[in-house]
Amino acid sequence: MLYDAVIIGTGPAGLSAALNLQIHKKHFLWIGSPALSEKIQKAEKIENYPGLPSVEGGQMAKQFLSQIQEMGISIQNAMVNTIMPMGEYYALMAGNDFYETKTVILATGVTSVGVLPGEEALLGRGVSYCATCDGGLYKGKNIAVISTSARFDHEVSFLAQLAQNVYFFPRYPVDTALGSNIIPMNTKVTGIVGEQKVSAVTCKDGSELPVDGVFCLRDAISLNTLLPGLVLENGHIVVDRTMATNLPGVFAAGDCTGRPYQYSKAAGEGNVAAHSVLHYLHNFQ
Ligand code: FAD
Repeated sequence: MLYDAVIIGTGPAGLSAALNLQIHKKHFLWIGSPALSEKIQKAEKIENYPGLPSVEGGQMAKQFLSQIQEMGISIQNAMVNTIMPMGEYYALMAGNDFYETKTVILATGVTSVGVLPGEEALLGRGVSYCATCDGGLYKGKNIAVISTSARFDHEVSFLAQLAQNVYFFPRYPVDTALGSNIIPMNTKVTGIVGEQKVSAVTCKDGSELPVDGVFCLRDAISLNTLLPGLVLENGHIVVDRTMATNLPGVFAAGDCTGRPYQYSKAAGEGNVAAHSVLHYLHNFQ
C-alpha cells in the first residue's frame, strides 16, 4: 500500500501536520510515540503558546491527545530507522515493518543523538538500532544495550531472552530488574570498536568490555543515518519557505529545521509542510 504521506515525529510539528492532512482526508501514517514528545511532557510551565495560557507540559499533552482522538487520528508507536528513496516514492523501515509513501514529513525534533565514535562505521556490522529486526542475530551472544528511555524496556527484555548476557547502559534511573541476565552498568559507553565487526565497547571509567553487538535504543536517529543524502547545515535540515528539503517529496518541520526551538514555530512549520505535501500530491503522477 502506497501512503500519501508518512509523518515522522509526534511533537507539535508532527501533530500540526497530522491535523491538516486529516482535514484534507489524506491517506497518511503518523509514526512516533503515543505519549507525543518528552519535550512537551517535561515543560514546567508554557507561557507563549497561543490559546493555552500558563499551561503545564502535561496539561498541554492532554489537550493535544484529546484533539487527536476527536479527529480520529492514530499514532503508530515505533521508531523509523531508515528511509530509502525509491525513485518516485520512499520506503521506510520502522522496527520490522516496511512502509511505502509518496511523501515524507520529518518532524523528528532536534536530534542531540550523540553518535558514538565507531557507531556509524559499524552500523549493520554489530551496531543496530532495532531489537526486533536484529535481535535474532545475537542468540547466545554477549551484547551491550544503550537505552535513552524506559519506553524501550520491552525491547531490552526481548534481547535478554535471546542473548547470553545484556550489558545494560540506561540513560535514565532504573529501579526494577528487567531480567536475570541483564547486567546494569554504572558507567557510560564512550565508543564502539571493531575491525570488520563489533568486538567491544569502551567505557567512561576506562574499561573495555568485549561484546558481539551493540543496540542503541534512542528517541532519535541521526539524520545522516535516517535519510542519507539529506542536506544539513549545523545539524539542522535545510528547508525553503515551503519546508521542502533538497529531496523531492521530503519536507521537514519543527526543531529539526533550526532555531528558535519553540512549540508555535514547530506547529506553524508542521502546518506549512502539510500544505506543501498537498500541493506536491496534486502534481504527483
Ligand atoms: P519534538 O517535540 O522534539 O518531538 C519530536 C518527536 O519525534 C519526539 O517524540 C521523538 O521521539 C520523535 N522522533 C524522533 N525521531 C524519530 C524517528 N526516527 N521515528 C519516530 N519518532 C521519532 N518551547 C516553547 O515555545 N515554550 C516553552 O515554554 C518551552 N519550554 C520547554 C521546556 C523544556 C523542558 C524543553 C525541553 C523544551 C521547551 N520548549 C519550549 C521547546 C519545545 O519543547 C520544542 O521547541 C518543541 O517540542 C519542538 O517540537 P517538534 O515537534 O519539532 O519536536
